[in-house]
Amino acid sequence: MSAVHPFLAHAPGELVSAFVVPLVSLAYLLGVDWRMTLITLVPVALALAPVPLMATPARLREQREVDAAKGRITGSVIEFVQGISVVKAYGGAERAHHRFLAAKDAFVATFDRWVRGLSRPAAAVQLVLSPPFVLLVVLTGGAVLVTHGALPPADLLPFLLLGLGLTAPVAALGHGFDDLSAAGRAVGRIRDVLSVPPLPEPGHPVPVRGGRVELRGVHFGYDGGHEVLRGVDLVLEPGTVTALVGPSGSGKSTLARLLPRFSDPTRGAVLLGGADLRRVAGPELYRTVSCVFQDVRLLRASLADNIALAVPRADHAAVVRAARLAGVHDRILRLPRGYASVVGEDAGLSGGEAQRIALARALLADTPVLVLDEATSFADPETERAVRRALAAREGERTVLVIAHRRETVADADVAVLLVDGVIAEQGRPAELLARGGAFARFWEAHGPAPADGASTGRGVRP
Ligand code: ADP
Repeated sequence: MSAVHPFLAHAPGELVSAFVVPLVSLAYLLGVDWRMTLITLVPVALALAPVPLMATPARLREQREVDAAKGRITGSVIEFVQGISVVKAYGGAERAHHRFLAAKDAFVATFDRWVRGLSRPAAAVQLVLSPPFVLLVVLTGGAVLVTHGALPPADLLPFLLLGLGLTAPVAALGHGFDDLSAAGRAVGRIRDVLSVPPLPEPGHPVPVRGGRVELRGVHFGYDGGHEVLRGVDLVLEPGTVTALVGPSGSGKSTLARLLPRFSDPTRGAVLLGGADLRRVAGPELYRTVSCVFQDVRLLRASLADNIALAVPRADHAAVVRAARLAGVHDRILRLPRGYASVVGEDAGLSGGEAQRIALARALLADTPVLVLDEATSFADPETERAVRRALAAREGERTVLVIAHRRETVADADVAVLLVDGVIAEQGRPAELLARGGAFARFWEAHGPAPADGASTGRGVRP
């Protein structure tokens, strides 16, 4: 957007002045003497000659490479800054810095190649448009005409004065062209983003009846590549908590994100209250399913508004009730403006606290289906207690799916599902699964979720 801005905001004014002044001057000079006018235009003609050389497909391709190299520098800086705590903790500063240096070197090489190709024609253009050169041409041509008696000496004066006015805007047009081509390339990138097709909305929506969730033969792969889910059959009954466990990368988050329809399965179907998600209207879907994922996003609004996001008309008592249940009420009261504190201004919250706000938001929405990621990154005892309390408060017939990282969560769940490499390896009541001594029991033993009290199991690898 910032590349498009200068062109849209400034180009109209600049183009008008770039054209109007020279055209009026040209008309006047033509009235004085047409031969002298042609001589004055010689530098302009010379300056335009190399333009085709500077806009060949190869040059444009190089320019796109320069843009991409610049993007990689920005990317490596952002990556470095976002991961700075990890980088510091693990002493990888040099390695992370190295990636930035590599991106910088690649940019310098690309930019150098591009500039080298352009520098000669660009210098030539600047030379022929420079005032001394223009004056030299006008004076030489004028002297010839005057000595042959073809031009009264006084008529040379307007050409000396206005000749420069003809050439200067050509240079401005050159910059305008740069802005135009930068804006054009930026528009191409914006169009790439906008052309990602939205998930299609159903033409004839089917109503959702209840909160039963069913995955039927679900296959899923990102961008049609490697299959992350390979034939998952799973039923989540209302009034039950299902704990999803499995090694990292086994597809737990991918599966959980199918419930709020962040993606559609490539094969099979996800049914919500008996209706295929692809046939459920968006607003109804979000009235039925709410989620709390690891990457909590709070809006720059008051905490009360953040909690009441899904229910803007909720009264304050309901907001407070949800915040209490999510274990964040006392923390909010300790803020100077309490529930009116604004995220990003005076509501400085830790990761765990932000997650509890998101949990309060989901609890207030009170949807029949709740999807939770019991994130490891924000594992603090208070958040963990809040999640447990929220899961235990089985108000009515809520269907809960939790990506579980702690033993207690799994043990308290009605059903445990072990996902391994995109396939359900085993599912059933946690105690029965442990007693059976199958895949679940082996997973639990080998690198099962760590106990909630934080004591190390010795093997302590979390999934
Ligand atoms: P888990 O939650 O069990 O750790 P995920 O569902 O996050 O596993 O990931 C399963 C696999 O899908 C991994 O191999 C991961 O690299 C891949 N994956 C996850 N998200 C994306 C994405 N947005 N694009 C491409 N691949 C992804």
